[in-house]
Amino acid sequence: MSTAIVWFRRDLRLSDNPALRDALGSFDRVLPVYVHAPEEEGEWAPGGAQRWWLHHSLQALAEDLAACGAPLVIRGGPTREALGRLLDETGAAAVLWNRLYEPALIERDRALKHWLREERGVIARSHNAALLFEPWEVATGQGEPYRVFTPFWRALERRGLPHRLQPRPRRLPGLARPPRGERVAELGLLPRVRWDAGLEQTWQPGEAGAQNRLDWFVEEALAAYDAGRDAPAEDGTSGLSPWLHCGEIGPRQVVVAVENAGLADTSDGRRFLAELGWREFAHHLLYHYPHTPGEPLDPKFAAFPWQRPGAELTAWQAGRTGIPLVDAGMRQLWHSGWMHNRVRMVVASLLTKNLRIHWREGARWFWDTLVDADLASNTLGWQWTAGCGADAAPFFRIFNPVRQGERFDPDGAYVRQWVPELAGLPDRHIHAPWQAPAEVLAAAGVRLGHDYPEPIVDLKGSRQRALDAFERMRRDARQA
Ligand code: FAD
Repeated sequence: MSTAIVWFRRDLRLSDNPALRDALGSFDRVLPVYVHAPEEEGEWAPGGAQRWWLHHSLQALAEDLAACGAPLVIRGGPTREALGRLLDETGAAAVLWNRLYEPALIERDRALKHWLREERGVIARSHNAALLFEPWEVATGQGEPYRVFTPFWRALERRGLPHRLQPRPRRLPGLARPPRGERVAELGLLPRVRWDAGLEQTWQPGEAGAQNRLDWFVEEALAAYDAGRDAPAEDGTSGLSPWLHCGEIGPRQVVVAVENAGLADTSDGRRFLAELGWREFAHHLLYHYPHTPGEPLDPKFAAFPWQRPGAELTAWQAGRTGIPLVDAGMRQLWHSGWMHNRVRMVVASLLTKNLRIHWREGARWFWDTLVDADLASNTLGWQWTAGCGADAAPFFRIFNPVRQGERFDPDGAYVRQWVPELAGLPDRHIHAPWQAPAEVLAAAGVRLGHDYPEPIVDLKGSRQRALDAFERMRRDARQA
């Protein structure tokens, strides 16, 4: 009887899981395994919010696998030793997994595949569960990686989005006596100081949670996605990003759900699918430019005169900048581990442009606080907003958080929800309380500098200083 180890990583689902399907198709027994080895992810080991998610997601996966007859075996790293011992204990003939694309993990997995095949003499096969296309599958006419989104996405669309799904197995032929493993709780993923109440209230990690959310989105919000996606007060986007990151749902399943709803050819459906395209683009860029989590894609930005981070960074992190839309976003992030995309762009613009604090500082904070923290998408998002990445917003396009608030949160509902100390202000002053007449502030019970901070930065002056710094950088680059 041949056994295959299915090595789960960030593909924590049974549906449309090609490694699992491979095991069922080619072997008699399946041994599902998770190896906890965060140190192998180097400086990008999961942050606090991700660890919380992973804990619950592993619990859900372990329950699903046990119910199907093949309990999950959890072991501590290093991965090579853990898999080697499991091969010894079970005599398994194969290790099968789905690919990840972070540079440190590509390197580890390549070495591991070689070791499994050459030194252990077992079958080692990897599959694509996380992306619609592999990052190396498309190239420009010159054979180069794409650096502009629209032609990249057109190239993927021309290939036809994949929509064949691997069915969810009902039963799994597990081992009669599976090896012992650790319990999820022993991995120490939950925070010691329990700051996670907001996450508990907001999310249902695991495959069932992902499917519920997808069903809800397709039925209730997708048909109005184009109009609703920019309003942070509304539940107008899919909210699928953390499940997609952990692989509790895959992008092919999302495409199929959109197609089955008959919405793939509507403007809302196309717009939504293009957002999945940005996720693909992010992975394409990270694969071809593996230095970008730390360095700008546009090399001239290496010389940009960033300010030393100090009290302003702390105020930004705490949602106490005195700029309501920014504070609302940062507090939403701290409470729920998630922030609306438009607000992510606004808070990132304030940090990198008005405050001229290095985008890496922001990316680090997001890394620790986002439940969807994803190296490819986070790097793209930060470099795009800072103006130093692929297809980036030009540096001179600096988001004005007051205008953004007036346009996308016109009645201030989002600000009122997350910055309740401003809730009594009338709509026309909620995004710029420092401009409100004293009697309006008094009537709303707001004392600036006491109940709510004065703005930590003058938006107009700091915008000009950022533009000047950018011009100097360009001039120096031309002269160099
Ligand atoms: P929807 O609008 O429903 O979109 C569907 C899916 O498409 C998302 O779940 C996501 O997987 C993908 N997607 C949408 N927009 C983008 C985008 N701009 N880039 C890449 N993928 C996208 N996204 C992450 O998943 N992880 C991150 O760490 C992350 N960091 C970001 C940092 C900054 C500074 C910015 C500006 C954006 C970042 N994003 C990140 C992208 C985007 O904000 C989120 O993917 C989106 O808000 C998730 O919400 P949703 O699932 O409701 O998106």
